Amino acid sequence: QQNEDKSNEYLDELEFLAYTAGGEVYKRFVQKMTAPNPKTFIGKGKMEEVQAYIAQHGITTAIFDDELSPAQQKNIEKILECKIIDRTNLILDIFAQRAQTSYARTQVELAQYEYLLPRLAGMWTHLERQKGGIGMRGPGETEIETDRRIVRDRITLLKQKIKKIDKQMEVQRGNRGALVRVALVGYTNVGKSTLMNVISKSDVFAENKLFATLDTTVRKVVIGNLPFLLTDTVGFIRKLPTQLVDSFKGTLDEVREADLLLHVVDISHESFEDHIASVGKTLDEIGASDKPVIMVFNKIDAYEPEVIDEDDLITEKTEVHYTLDEWKKTWMGRVDGDAIFISALQKENFDEFRKLVYDKVRDIHVTRFPYNS
Ligand code: GDP
Repeated sequence: QQNEDKSNEYLDELEFLAYTAGGEVYKRFVQKMTAPNPKTFIGKGKMEEVQAYIAQHGITTAIFDDELSPAQQKNIEKILECKIIDRTNLILDIFAQRAQTSYARTQVELAQYEYLLPRLAGMWTHLERQKGGIGMRGPGETEIETDRRIVRDRITLLKQKIKKIDKQMEVQRGNRGALVRVALVGYTNVGKSTLMNVISKSDVFAENKLFATLDTTVRKVVIGNLPFLLTDTVGFIRKLPTQLVDSFKGTLDEVREADLLLHVVDISHESFEDHIASVGKTLDEIGASDKPVIMVFNKIDAYEPEVIDEDDLITEKTEVHYTLDEWKKTWMGRVDGDAIFISALQKENFDEFRKLVYDKVRDIHVTRFPYNS
């Protein structure tokens, strides 16, 4: 049962990713296996089932939730005769669509080439098949080598470019002087951009899709005469492709160098506890887990916990309306560090939120400049 819940959850996320990329999902297939099939990822029976569905409904693309090996991708493509995309590919696609600054575009391009490199051979075989494959093998092989070299050169070049921008960004961060730095962190789609907009009265792109935010935005914010810098960071997600984890190092530096983290949580999401854990893991990985954190439980307007009926049989979703004091008495209110419960959309409990941020920022400011305050 638990495994089933998990795979459903992963597929929910995958479906949301597909929707973010501009696709429409027709059907989901789940297979329970102890280990994926090395040749085709899924088993023969399941493959036939998928094949039949694709043929019947004229499906153009099949998306797999894990990273497929280049060989698997090629084999599946041969059987299903449609476009085969894996989770990494899908995420890279979304990042490519949404990268706005030259830094983000360079990072995405690098990640895409790194993803492409081991797959070049497979792509060639695919072409060869289309061309009939006669008399192609010799020059074909050379062509793969040439392609590989071009891609490798490009990767080296992009890495140099990123290194240069990283240095520039480091200098810029240094130039921001003594202002306290606050970073919004959290799973993707929890409301970070929305919160950023409300706090800084600016206009950051927010929408109900994964990764609306790709580039970090830094804004100077003033609460009660106290100025500080607020950074909106890229949303964390489970199973983020390794190519991207590496290439977004610069973005994560913003988090690493922050004085205070606002960990935003979408409590209307049924697996928000998992999200908290995976954000915690990422923070750990980048060495930012010892920073002061305010847990910002967001979307209280949409919180509908499952309530178990008296006869213990029926669970149903029920809307709740707690006061801030009642919220603080829940387990969420008792987490380590500070917690606040808000709706960024409806600006609920916003005065309390501002006060909490103000107090924390002031504390940090005072510790830093004991004689100026
Ligand atoms: P981000 O990916 O963390 O930056 O999330 P966004 O700020 O882009 O918000 C994701 C979605 O959640 C958008 O559709 C927002 O309108 C919605 N949202 C943000 N805050 C709230 C809230 O307090 N309540 C509700 N119901 N929706 C919210």
